[in-house]
Amino acid sequence: MAQDQVITRFAPSPTGHLHIGGARTALFCWAFARKHDGRFLLRIEDTDQARSSEDAAKGILEDLAWLGITWDDGPDFTSDGGTGVTPVRVGGDPRNIGPFYQSQRHDIYNPYFEQLLDAGVAFPAFDTPEQLTAMRKAAESEKRSFIYRRAADFDHAAALERAKTEPHVLRLHMPDTAITVHDQVLGEVTFPHAELDDFVIRKTDGYPTYHFAVVVDDARMGVTHVLRGQEHLNNTPKHIAIQNALGLPTPAYAHMPLIFNPDGTKMSKRDKDKAAKIAVKEAGITTVAELIDRLPQSNRAHQEPILRTFNDTDLAAWLKDKQRQLGRDQVSAVAQALDLTLPEIDVEDFRAAGYLPETLCNFLALLGWNPGIKNADGTDLERFDHAFLASNFDTDRIGKTQSKFDRDKLLAFSADTIQHTLDDATFATLWLEWAERFDEALASWAHNDTTRWQVAVAAARPRAKTLRDARTALAFAFIETDSITYDEKPVNKFLLKGEPTGLDTLADLRTAIASIDPWTPDAIDSFLQAYTQEHSIGMGKIAQPLRIALTGTGVSPGLGHTLTLVGKETTLARIDRCLNTLRQ
Ligand code: GLU
Repeated sequence: MAQDQVITRFAPSPTGHLHIGGARTALFCWAFARKHDGRFLLRIEDTDQARSSEDAAKGILEDLAWLGITWDDGPDFTSDGGTGVTPVRVGGDPRNIGPFYQSQRHDIYNPYFEQLLDAGVAFPAFDTPEQLTAMRKAAESEKRSFIYRRAADFDHAAALERAKTEPHVLRLHMPDTAITVHDQVLGEVTFPHAELDDFVIRKTDGYPTYHFAVVVDDARMGVTHVLRGQEHLNNTPKHIAIQNALGLPTPAYAHMPLIFNPDGTKMSKRDKDKAAKIAVKEAGITTVAELIDRLPQSNRAHQEPILRTFNDTDLAAWLKDKQRQLGRDQVSAVAQALDLTLPEIDVEDFRAAGYLPETLCNFLALLGWNPGIKNADGTDLERFDHAFLASNFDTDRIGKTQSKFDRDKLLAFSADTIQHTLDDATFATLWLEWAERFDEALASWAHNDTTRWQVAVAAARPRAKTLRDARTALAFAFIETDSITYDEKPVNKFLLKGEPTGLDTLADLRTAIASIDPWTPDAIDSFLQAYTQEHSIGMGKIAQPLRIALTGTGVSPGLGHTLTLVGKETTLARIDRCLNTLRQ
């Protein structure tokens, strides 16, 4: 391994979905390695056996691959993007530095523990949880922070003897000096000895703690640069102490700003629970039965049992207590009952919401970094792709202060990409990949009704802000005719008023339209054009009545597209139903 090669790593703990902040860390580590012709490695930190799962690890790998953040060293993984269409293979172990799951590296850590025990720098500690709690309480009552320290008269040999038979942890004895972190973003940050405790490096179960495993693995994997969130800054002196004790090199550190919501709160998984709580309160709901009542018919069978997992007392307690949280599925069921869109937090949420990976990465890159380049018109350059990031990213332009997660900006980026950068063919590929995962009905058009699928693409792309938004704009084509309800305002304005009324025009159109053949956007548009000329009426006079009859609203794509998507037979049936319903 060449010593001067830059090696970065992303080291997620597989305790849940990949959070958007984690994705940013991964992106920065990836970009930094690419910029310096280095390597980017991925390591799964699953030492917390109770909270880690293989499924969560797989989900993280899948999300990273989807984002286009590919790793040079790391778990072998073949992603099919959920579609089976274009498999991407990432990872592998060309430097022979694996395994990349910490739970499989047990034997690697043991000699390092031995080394520290022999040197008397690590020591066994036998305190019970009760004793530790008592020490913490005593500190609290004396208004000082609790710093665990090895007793002055500690007998190392006796402790080692006792450790042969008694459960214990291993702690690192901190040297009696301050530790300074030379951070590439924050500058020098010094931690006085008074703040540094003799912390645990091996748990009672024999597993290394995060601090220990991270240091040993970074060293053995040749990591030269650690880029991670500022929430880890307080861990860094501990890591430096372990490196010093083991005689391992200290990598360069760069701690990135935390990500905040525009309202100044830290962006976190809790935001979903918070949004659901506010919505339930605003709706004045106090019982689980009310929630169940509001579930959409289509998803009732699936969501009702989830809502039944808590009762009215639980609901009241949750509403009253800010700290109390529902489970992930429960929050999602509550949201469905209230027709509420939860804030996206995990990469999977943004994926479901129909953001494109490159747009999301472009936006993430600007959370705490900027390229410092101007556009020709003097504005800051903000739109770029992976390749640009890979050749322009560096730590010198990472900010010190918190970054704000501006959802409107992300949406604007997304709309711009879909409407102005993609052509119909590329959009169609991406939309189908999305539908394969999130929208069966739409995917089945692509597979079984290609003509209709192409019309859908042409109709949706020019106005869509996200892939999901594109689907929502065509919702009228997926519903049952009998479920259409008519919006009062446009009905009054366009169907009931005028001489002749919109309804009369619609009735006349109904007969004329029945003769259109073939039923294609062009043929429909020319026919309607000719119809308006023949009858000397404006397009609006027929467009709005038709839209209301077909969709129940005054909003839909162009008429040629709208009518084609609904289909000839259904178009006629919807006009009949509209006439019948509104003439009564
Ligand atoms: N496993 C740690 C986490 O997910 C990694 C921290 C680090 O980068 O050192 O937060």
